Amino acid sequence: MSTLPKLTLLPEVEKFLSRERLTSFVGGQPLASSSNNCIATYDPGSGEKLADVEELTPQEVDQAVQIADEAFKNTTWATMPANERAALLHRLADAIESHKSIIGQIESLDAGKVEAQAQGDVQNCSDTLRYFADLAQHMNHRTTLAVKGHEAWTFRKPWGACAFIFPWNFPFLLIGWGISPALAAGNTVVIKPAEDTPLSAIYLAELAKEVGIPDGVINVITGRGATVGAALSNNKVIKRMSFTGSPEVGRLVGEACGRNLVPVKLELGGKGAAVIFDDVDVADTAEKLAAAITFHTGQVCCDATRWLVHQDIYDDFVNRCVSLLSEVKIGHQLDDSTQMGPVVNAKQRERVLGYLEKGVAEGAECLLTGGPANVAGFPGNFVKPALLAGSLDNTAAQEEIFGPVAYLAPFKTEQEAIEMANYTTYGLANSVWSADLARAARVAESMVAGNSWINAHNVFAQGVPYGGINQSGLGGGVLSVETLLDYYRSTSVVRPL
Ligand code: NAD
Repeated sequence: MSTLPKLTLLPEVEKFLSRERLTSFVGGQPLASSSNNCIATYDPGSGEKLADVEELTPQEVDQAVQIADEAFKNTTWATMPANERAALLHRLADAIESHKSIIGQIESLDAGKVEAQAQGDVQNCSDTLRYFADLAQHMNHRTTLAVKGHEAWTFRKPWGACAFIFPWNFPFLLIGWGISPALAAGNTVVIKPAEDTPLSAIYLAELAKEVGIPDGVINVITGRGATVGAALSNNKVIKRMSFTGSPEVGRLVGEACGRNLVPVKLELGGKGAAVIFDDVDVADTAEKLAAAITFHTGQVCCDATRWLVHQDIYDDFVNRCVSLLSEVKIGHQLDDSTQMGPVVNAKQRERVLGYLEKGVAEGAECLLTGGPANVAGFPGNFVKPALLAGSLDNTAAQEEIFGPVAYLAPFKTEQEAIEMANYTTYGLANSVWSADLARAARVAESMVAGNSWINAHNVFAQGVPYGGINQSGLGGGVLSVETLLDYYRSTSVVRPL
């Protein structure tokens, strides 16, 4: 019998979690696994089990892809006019919005995400679906080419069954970013959510069935990365792979796809910098960066994790950040007063604490001591925000920690700041903070990464390509027309006159 405070859940959430086992959802119906293996998923705030989720066998993964491939070939999904497909996708977006509080609460419980932020992710998924549904209606599918002596044109068609492997930090939002362009172009999709956070994906697949998306168009397969993820990456029927997660696993997925010559998009980790010049409003900038590093407990791939601060404002900036971060309210993710929830699991908590120890052992100055946090009544995976400072060669300044930890260093000149920002093997997202917009634009263009933001961090607008380079990934173009184009194959047709 649990001794934890009773969380008040929505009746629909209670009902969803009350099933004895949750399963994959393939071809418009639950797909029970013959493996008899289940993976339990937990509330990282309370440590309580939420559900047992079945793990598919590699053969069942292949079966799921086969079903997605058949749905591509045999339903009208791929061939219906783009506006009809868009109408169905808008219907799915409507259903997501009308179930926002339910999906948001499921996501909050499963990922440890503050409930209001989880609801924001649900809205974002729906917005992304609508964006790509609309964009696809305006695509030119047939383009005539003016070529001397020939009649020639190109045309675009969807590829077929496309695979998606997702991480645990933004499960529902990333599903939206990933599958929306693929679906809008007329492909079918097979989604493998992370084993820590499979619940919202299963809910989505069931919702898609309810709103009339044809069976087999949206499929969700559950299980461990090393079995289910690996089987999906090695499948020869998939036409494209999109992987979001760590560089280590990204490499494995890329290798498997390379062997099968399947095009692959990799969205990987980061070690983003924020370059802060001496003409900023120090109080305002400190507030925004403190909010960024505590947002989803720092488990954000594109977070500002290295704060490079002009020497003239360094002490003032540090003092303000220390004071702001010391006051962050840490608590269970469903508590309305919580500003920062738990990290996703005990392993992630150990990872964050381990990096703090290692950073200090290598000589970093501890500006704000982090460490484990206690939340009354909840034994979950809570950690405090921490600030380290010192040499950028420190492991804590070079490797992705994925927790509420920022590493600070002062700079003197613009050139020095750019060199410091680029002193990383990653290349996902950086920001520059200055009242001088010409300087800000110059620095933004000099930082080597897929994304540069000015006077803000974590900015995602549908229509602006997002993605990483170097250790942060390849393929990019997420959330923009570039990715929609990836989900069409192009054929040239030519006839000599
Ligand atoms: P992870 O790489 O451990 O796992 C990601 C997914 O891969 C999970 O679904 C997992 O089950 C699966 N997987 C694991 N082993 C596999 C294998 N051998 N073959 C195929 N699939 C396998 O990453 P994580 O810990 O879930 O997520 C955190 C990482 O994701 C961080 O590095 C973060 O920066 C990155 N991330 C990047 C972006 C982006 O847009 N660039 C967004 C979110 C997260």
